[in-house]
Amino acid sequence: MNGLVPRGHHAHDVRLEDTFDFVNTDDLENGFPIDRLPTLGDALTWFVERGVIHSEGADRLRASAAADPATAERDLARIKTVRGALREVADAIVEHRPPHSGSLDTVNRALHARQVIELVPSNDGCVAVDHRHVGDPIDDALARLCDPLVSELTNGDPERIRICDNDTCRWVFFDTSRTARRRWCDMATCGNRAKAARHRARAKDKSAIADAPIQPIALS
Ligand SMILES: [Zn+2]
Repeated sequence: MNGLVPRGHHAHDVRLEDTFDFVNTDDLENGFPIDRLPTLGDALTWFVERGVIHSEGADRLRASAAADPATAERDLARIKTVRGALREVADAIVEHRPPHSGSLDTVNRALHARQVIELVPSNDGCVAVDHRHVGDPIDDALARLCDPLVSELTNGDPERIRICDNDTCRWVFFDTSRTARRRWCDMATCGNRAKAARHRARAKDKSAIADAPIQPIALS
């Protein structure tokens, strides 16, 4: 897969939102784990949708996966390993603690596959910028998905990285609110659910007081 690709063939920029969406594909539904990328095919479709892999590259990988299920399994495993490591690193940033051992190594290994920028002679006899692929298209996709986290830590606002307060959700998100005090990935779902739960708890408290048996007063 090494070699120069045609100029002007740079894929779209990956945003931190894409990185977190990738992390959040290892999802919780009402508190139960659910993987939104259960197969290599699902992962490749997701990568194509997010523009981190070209559809021709994905098709090639699909074809080789069909011919060799063991390779497909390994490919899916490395996607999930990097996704899990990104989750751990994001959690660590939010919780202001060191990430568990291995997760930084995993993310760093993924970053090594970043496209290399090179200067090349241009068609008009001058100099142009090109890029060279280091790994295969999956390496490429994973490196590109790790990249926004590096940029955020370099010159962004990592304090705004959040984990949704809803324990049955736990989505990673970036808080773009003016006050930087957002607690839920989405106010309409998790935020409302939390409010409703608090309301129920308060209502229950009140009825518990109302239902409480009247204590006999000890006369002395
Ligand atoms: Zn949420």
